[in-house]
Amino acid sequence: MSSHPCLRCGACCAFFRVAFHWSETDACAGGLTPQGLTEPLDPHRVVMRGTYGGTAVRCEQLRGQIGRDAHCGIYALRPSPCHALQPAWEQGAPSPQCDKARVAHGLAPLTPADWPAGAGAA
Ligand code: SF4
Ligand code: SF4
Repeated sequence: MSSHPCLRCGACCAFFRVAFHWSETDACAGGLTPQGLTEPLDPHRVVMRGTYGGTAVRCEQLRGQIGRDAHCGIYALRPSPCHALQPAWEQGAPSPQCDKARVAHGLAPLTPADWPAGAGAA
């Protein structure tokens, strides 16, 4: 089993609206995220399907069980908000977004002790 805490979590993928400029989709030359996995938000932005809002936010690309084995099904193609959300303390800094999502799913916020030497993301 991987020691990376995100691969036992997935909480942020089932908490925040994941919105980004449409040009990040493969509808635009150089875009990566499959357009078909998104839906329009406004004339300039799209959202990952499942994250638009409401009471049951969960990105449709999230695989597995939150808090156990959740992981992104399109990791290499995920959009910029997913790159931007940093796990708390991976780089030595807090992450209020990470904490908020984990607490909302009944998970304890990460601490520096969750990052033993060599456990950080590549
Ligand atoms: S960034 Fe935080 S909330 Fe998101 S999967 Fe990683 S540990 Fe969980
Ligand atoms: S695209 Fe992947 S990383 Fe981004 S919210 Fe969806 S499951 Fe999470």
